[in-house]
Amino acid sequence: MEKWSQVLQNIKSQVSLVNYRTWFSKSQAQSFNENILTIAVPSAFIKQTISTKYQDILNSAIKEVYGEEVLLDIKVDSSVEGRKESDEEEITLETFTSPIINTHNLTYANLNPKYTMENFVVGLSNNLGYAAAQAVIQNPGISYNPLFIYGGTGVGKTHLMHGIGNALIKKNPNIKIIYCSSEKFTNDFVASIQTKQTTQFRNKYRSCDLLLIDDIQFISGRDSTQEEFFHTFNELQTKNAQVVLTSDRPPTEIQKLEPRLQSRFQGGLMVDIQNPDFDTRVAILKAKCQERGDMVSEECLTLIAERTESNARELEGKLTQIIQTLKLTQRDINVDNIRNLLGVAPIIPTGNFKIDHKKVLSQINEYFNLKMVDLTGPRRKKELVLPRQLAMFLLYEECKLPYERIGEVLGGRDHTTIMHGVDKIREAAQRDREIQRMMIEIKANLTNQPHSYPQNS
Ligand code: ADP
Ligand code: MG
Repeated sequence: MEKWSQVLQNIKSQVSLVNYRTWFSKSQAQSFNENILTIAVPSAFIKQTISTKYQDILNSAIKEVYGEEVLLDIKVDSSVEGRKESDEEEITLETFTSPIINTHNLTYANLNPKYTMENFVVGLSNNLGYAAAQAVIQNPGISYNPLFIYGGTGVGKTHLMHGIGNALIKKNPNIKIIYCSSEKFTNDFVASIQTKQTTQFRNKYRSCDLLLIDDIQFISGRDSTQEEFFHTFNELQTKNAQVVLTSDRPPTEIQKLEPRLQSRFQGGLMVDIQNPDFDTRVAILKAKCQERGDMVSEECLTLIAERTESNARELEGKLTQIIQTLKLTQRDINVDNIRNLLGVAPIIPTGNFKIDHKKVLSQINEYFNLKMVDLTGPRRKKELVLPRQLAMFLLYEECKLPYERIGEVLGGRDHTTIMHGVDKIREAAQRDREIQRMMIEIKANLTNQPHSYPQNS
């Protein structure tokens, strides 16, 4: 990111020192990929100012240095703030995650200052984990030792673990913390045997106040490392030092794990984190937009959350991808463009009609000769499945209701049921003529237009 310092030098020569310090000195280049230069600035206000007031100076400096058309993506990242004047010129990869609290201690602990308890979004899927982490922060080494956090990939285990470390450093800057993966622990241990420095190894790992070992499942099958870890663990527990472990599965499901370690892992508190539910997904998207300083409407975020039913990491990835693609192709960040990108079928235009959801339900009832309670009630009769799924599909495509709302309209059904129903009909409509016919007839009744059947082939 040599080039970014050249850009800064270029700008420095064009603006006053005060302005340079206020608006540019803390910016950092993060990546340069396919002509998108991503930089981070400490606040949304700075982002706004440099992308309006200093837009021309910035663009021409970039063009001069990079010598080509470059699209600038400015992110807001409050941890950028902490960088000192003196290392202003040296913008290297290492400075991207600049510590915010105690530089020395964070470096030693290997903690990422970006992962905090404050920016961890709490929802149904992770509130146990969050509460346990808070309890550990309140009473390290006492309440829950070890704290064992498990769950699938990308759900926030590592984030929470760093959150605990960062919070405890804030409480006590002199606390000794070690964060590492179980692989690092293993490698360190093996290296210490090879170099005959096991004493140093033990001193290091057994003298800390907080030991955070990420992805402990990788210790599986490594007998001597497990033995060493067992003793480390015991010693730490004796002196009330806190141990926090994460894993992609509960201890009982880790293969080739010594029984005594398994029972140690189960001896504190075990909490699992699940993939975020719909509301949490929306909240995570909101938080990430705020962090990045991007304005994206609630409606758009809802759409992305509906279509990305997976973990927080993928959700964030999807968001970044959408925003960058739209910016790159100079399209607005709106529902239609996002639908397009997500490959969601476009809404079939229904003239000037704004179809009311009640009308959809009553048309379906009329068509299938049902009563409202059949459609919205809890009965699981087979002949109700199709009318209900058609209702879901039409409410989604014609009334543009979000899944959650459709669930409510249909008598309190879960949004995943609705999603499933909509997908089912969408698929069936591709090949099943009977379904096609029903849809055309019901839609025609809805819009009072004459029927037009597909040609028989
Ligand atoms: P894991 O360790 O479970 O695989 P990570 O902790 O690495 O997952 O999380 C993946 C990404 O998702 C990180 O960028 C993290 O900040 C983000 N993330 C996960 N859960 C949350 C949450 N509840 N709130 C905010 N960000 C989250
Ligand atoms: Mg992780």
